[in-house]
Amino acid sequence: MATAVNDWQELEHRYFLSTFKRLPVTLVRGRGVAVWDDAGKEYLDFVAGWAVNSLGHCHPVVVQALVEQANTLIHTSNQFYTVPQIRLAELLLQNSCFNKVFLSNSGTEANEGAVKLARKYGKLRLGGAFEVITTVDSFHGRTLAMVAATGQRKFQQPYVPMPSGFVNVEYDDIDAVQKATSSRTCAVMVEPIQGEGGVNVPAEDYLKRLRAWCDEKGILLILDEVQTGVGRTGALFAYQHFGIEPDIMTLAKGLGGGVPIGAILSRNKSAVFEPGDHGSTFGGNPLACAAAYATLKFILEHDIPARVQRVGQYFHDRLRQLKEEFDLIVDVRGRGLLQAIEFNREVADEAVAACLDRGLLVNRLKPNALRFMPPLIIEEQDVDRAMDILKEVLATL
Ligand SMILES: *Cc1c(COP(=O)(O)O)cnc(C)c1O
Repeated sequence: MATAVNDWQELEHRYFLSTFKRLPVTLVRGRGVAVWDDAGKEYLDFVAGWAVNSLGHCHPVVVQALVEQANTLIHTSNQFYTVPQIRLAELLLQNSCFNKVFLSNSGTEANEGAVKLARKYGKLRLGGAFEVITTVDSFHGRTLAMVAATGQRKFQQPYVPMPSGFVNVEYDDIDAVQKATSSRTCAVMVEPIQGEGGVNVPAEDYLKRLRAWCDEKGILLILDEVQTGVGRTGALFAYQHFGIEPDIMTLAKGLGGGVPIGAILSRNKSAVFEPGDHGSTFGGNPLACAAAYATLKFILEHDIPARVQRVGQYFHDRLRQLKEEFDLIVDVRGRGLLQAIEFNREVADEAVAACLDRGLLVNRLKPNALRFMPPLIIEEQDVDRAMDILKEVLATL
């Protein structure tokens, strides 16, 4: 058995461009909150494919939607009307503040399209304004333009020069946005809670003040909810926590219950695309849309956001208790089932490896921080199981 494990990993090293620093585990099966490796070892999954498996692994409603759609119509292109994408669009719009939608395959693509939409708005309504203000430690994706939008030097450095048109300012700093705004600005794009950049929760009034500033200047507010959207933070969309409505919002990760799909949602005001302005071969593919529709419908019908709020608060409180017990932990932050702990030293890799050994998947957020983003369907008892392992691991560090 051990030989087989090594074979897969050796083959990967031989075949793949070396972009991912993978953990030494080959996963072959999943069910609910559990995954199994090729040696049959079980893990409690508190990463959920980077906040993607919102209903856990192989949830029956997602599986059934996929099987039925796969037997009916898998792909057609967007030259034709297809039913699953229209049903999904309707469900998204009925449950948000938006009027129009574009479907993509990923978060990066959704953000790229959102910036194109904002640039077209700038061209039509703001005298050619094209700059988008983004924030330090944001994460908007991996295309060249989204790497430029992403305020993290490490993602940009190998690829300079960067596409222009992005201005990067401190997060959670309204003055910085105000100072950076000029006649060239068409939009401000932020995550309501920064995910990859550290699970950074802004001040309660940050988004409200951003909204007011954008209104005053007539520029667009784009929220990247690729990570925070679809229930993750304990509201269907994180903007709902902050009492504002953005002009444009992007979604992806949790939307398809594990299947690749992204979305741009826009209010009428900023819905300035015309035929030919943007497109996608796979975006809105019937198979992906059937999975997303089933996922979203389940989340709505079972009021998963309320459950995320309850279990997320329990999880957060348990992490805070752990902070009381271990000097090693200097901060606990997050909302709903997007939580992080920060250490006073760089032990995250060691912690991830030790958790893995004991059958728990957690995410290394930074050299000194861990992130947790379990499936939204977990129960308090799953949190208890994870905390038992985490506590054991912290005691060894
Ligand atoms: C993951 C992420 C992206 C990129 O999404 P992909 O599906 O990997 O392209 C963009 N924005 C945020 C906030 C993310 O968390």
